[in-house]
Amino acid sequence: MESVPISDRRNLSRRQFLAGSTVAAWTALQLGACGPTERPDRAAAVQTVLGPVAPQRLGATLMHEHAPTVDWSELYATPAAPLDSLRERMLTETSGMLNAFHRSLSAEDGPGAIVECTPIRVGRYPQLLVDLARRARVHIIASTGFWCEALAPQHPWAIRLGIEPDGAARMADLFAREISEGMEDPHGGRGERFTTIRAGAIKIGTSALMRPSEKAVHIAAAMASRQTGCPVTTHTTNGGGLEQARLLLESGADPGRVIIGHQGHMDDGRNAEAGDYHLEIARLGCYLQFDRVGAGNYDCDKQARLIHNLVAAGFERQILVSHDHVPYFYRAFSAETKDSHGWRENRADFTIVTTKLAASLEQLGVSHDQIRTILVENPGRVLAF
Ligand SMILES: [Zn+2]
Repeated sequence: MESVPISDRRNLSRRQFLAGSTVAAWTALQLGACGPTERPDRAAAVQTVLGPVAPQRLGATLMHEHAPTVDWSELYATPAAPLDSLRERMLTETSGMLNAFHRSLSAEDGPGAIVECTPIRVGRYPQLLVDLARRARVHIIASTGFWCEALAPQHPWAIRLGIEPDGAARMADLFAREISEGMEDPHGGRGERFTTIRAGAIKIGTSALMRPSEKAVHIAAAMASRQTGCPVTTHTTNGGGLEQARLLLESGADPGRVIIGHQGHMDDGRNAEAGDYHLEIARLGCYLQFDRVGAGNYDCDKQARLIHNLVAAGFERQILVSHDHVPYFYRAFSAETKDSHGWRENRADFTIVTTKLAASLEQLGVSHDQIRTILVENPGRVLAF
């Protein structure tokens, strides 16, 4: 194990920390079955949809994207969106958008990667992601987990598990299975069929106030993360990041495996730029993710100011960035509303982070090395397990 300065130790996974500790054996005994799965036979790797990749081979990584689809049909109890007629165009156009991101990178920052943050049954099609990864020149990491109740109801599968006495543990088993063996195939009944395509992140989220079912999902995510070493990445809704972080850590998650997402606007629920709030989360050892760069209230200069604030306080190793783009979005409503929009197509520009945000950061005096830490090193570290 390479030596790591004390200040960086909070970012080590528990498995890495134990591996380097002289009291490793004793501590592992104390942790018992709760510790992450020990896999001394192989180095930590990033789990892409095409298989494990060494973290230093990712390059610049967009940590929260949806490519190509999001589909909320099941949340409204309506049939899944028709995909077949659009599939070929979806793959061609989305791989073109991702390849533009690849081309925006220098050789040393390539080939590039995205974390596809669409979790269970909201338009996550594992085979579609594999086909996209084969066409695109960037790596794709898929997500297990359940989305939250913000903007749409939560998935009935998550709600049902959330109210059962052993539901959180069973949900954790589902997440761990998707990470260790393969993701569920949404073409069958719930939990009926599984692929051999593995998830490499756990995506969860909260509404403006954390609902009981969302709390159960957080507890399950912490359990699955502890068991597998897989990182947890969150959706926040104008605040709630600190509550998420505290709950995940109380539930046993390693802070170096926790990514608090959708930062960059109203993160404390009050202020457009909540720099002090970010520092509170950073002091817990969690990552802060500015993942809507360029969109609406998340303009590049504002995101750069907030990132600079964290860099100036010494937290550059806990910052991640992305766009939260959705090239194909299907939002079908219930039969009562008679309001189905069909597929909405967005020309997503996946190069805003690597061009405009990088320029804004440079203007504020964030160095090339610090930008590289944020774009390349931090993703490689947090995604490897
Ligand atoms: Zn998202």
